[in-house]
Amino acid sequence: MNILLAASEAVPFAKTGGLADVVAALPVALERLGHRAVVFLPGYRGALNGGQPLEQTQVRISVPIGSKTVEGTLLKSRLPDSQVDVYFVQQDEYYLRDELYGVNGSDYIDNCERFVFFCRAVLEAVRQLPLRVDVVHAHDWQTGLIPAYLKIAYRGLPGYEQIASLFTIHNLAYQGTFWHWDMLLTGLDWKYFNWHQMEFYGKLNLMKTGLVFADAINTVSPRYAEEIQNAPLGCGLEGVLQQRREVLSGIVNGVDYRIWDPATDPHLPKNYDERSVVEGKAACKAALQAELGLPSAPDVPLVGLIGRLVDQKGIDLVAEVVQDWVRSNDVQWVILGTGEARYHQLFATLAERFPQKVAARLAFSEPLAHRIEAGADIFLMPSRFEPCGLNQLYSLKYGAVPVVRGTGGLVDTITDTTPQSLADGTATGFSFRETEVLALAETLRRAINTYRQADTWRQIVANGMRQDWSWGRSAQQYVQLYQSTLTRVRAPLIAERV
Ligand code: ADP
Repeated sequence: MNILLAASEAVPFAKTGGLADVVAALPVALERLGHRAVVFLPGYRGALNGGQPLEQTQVRISVPIGSKTVEGTLLKSRLPDSQVDVYFVQQDEYYLRDELYGVNGSDYIDNCERFVFFCRAVLEAVRQLPLRVDVVHAHDWQTGLIPAYLKIAYRGLPGYEQIASLFTIHNLAYQGTFWHWDMLLTGLDWKYFNWHQMEFYGKLNLMKTGLVFADAINTVSPRYAEEIQNAPLGCGLEGVLQQRREVLSGIVNGVDYRIWDPATDPHLPKNYDERSVVEGKAACKAALQAELGLPSAPDVPLVGLIGRLVDQKGIDLVAEVVQDWVRSNDVQWVILGTGEARYHQLFATLAERFPQKVAARLAFSEPLAHRIEAGADIFLMPSRFEPCGLNQLYSLKYGAVPVVRGTGGLVDTITDTTPQSLADGTATGFSFRETEVLALAETLRRAINTYRQADTWRQIVANGMRQDWSWGRSAQQYVQLYQSTLTRVRAPLIAERV
């Protein structure tokens, strides 16, 4: 099969979250399974100056944007260690900026226009290059117009009618809503601006557009696929998702173990695997404590958290527990993240006042993220909602036992420690249901008590490290989904011909 992935982020070119990891790893895994994949990304400044070799193409693309025509070009690169071509849609006025979506907490005011252009440019590129495409796989609201253009503007054009579309929701909380006049930018007829299709409470909604027009929809875990069919996690789109539930499914993201494996990780002071985990983690913990200025304390549980410091991630719960425990409990806390100013301030203050207990790095640092996974005994992820979550999967591999709130992908990937799950060897972490400080505190206490029982702890660590959340597994599920979607889309076409 020939798969075209269109997205607004992919490692190593552009990243703000887990989406970038998925869009980089899935095509490589598809290639390994014998399929052909290409990736389309906007030509951001960072992506073009990112150090990967770039090639000019001769392709010039003209896209109608409202009443004007905007020109762009295509640049070509490769995903590292693969044959997967990456095409950058180059349009400097739209993409040659310092950030992907906005600065200083405000979105760029022309985001709708930027992604209208991107979506049409991708479909134009298909005929101009030309590319053979069986499935277009679009990701999140930035590419939500692609399924719509395929169904409406490109219907009947030679080469396009055989293309099926899959739309993946990575996070339903970000929907790409714009004022209604931006409908004019899309070039689509106003008749589609209705509450069954592109309109959402008077606004243009690009996530909804993708959900309505795609041939199939999936999200990044089976549990999140269920949860979003109801309020509150449906974020207002639960009705649309219920209507489309026949074509809605969930596939847990994979981990790129070429990057996230403590046995080979170049960022760690000492590499380790399941057999050498006790010594390996002890060395990494000592080095992490030294790096962050925490006292060297091999027996004090070290709790790590990496991620966006926003409400979604339950950071307020963490902040309360840290504040509550910092004087009385012998626990070390390591926080790595960026996000809302109030959390920056809070953790910076805690780290300043309690340097023996709290280390906060309010920055984005991939190397430090690796060292935290290796040095931490416990990894915290008390998310309010979590479409899939990657950090808990890294934690499993690095022997940092996850403490999670049971939501979305965290339910599908972490098994709570109980006498039963210990007995059958499935226990991999600790989880709780209520979004309450008390529930988190109690679960953390449970984890720390278990940490004190070295044999049991070692067993939980081993259970986690043995799990396989590789992309090979997820990619196989995507192949099945592409195939079933393609069969469904092409069946009527074949019937017509007979
Ligand atoms: P989300 O996509 O909601 O942000 P995920 O857990 O799915 O959450 O993915 C987050 C990704 O971003 C992970 O790879 C995580 O390690 C990384 N990440 C987030 N914040 C930071 C940070 N401050 N420094 C380094 N990596 C980070």
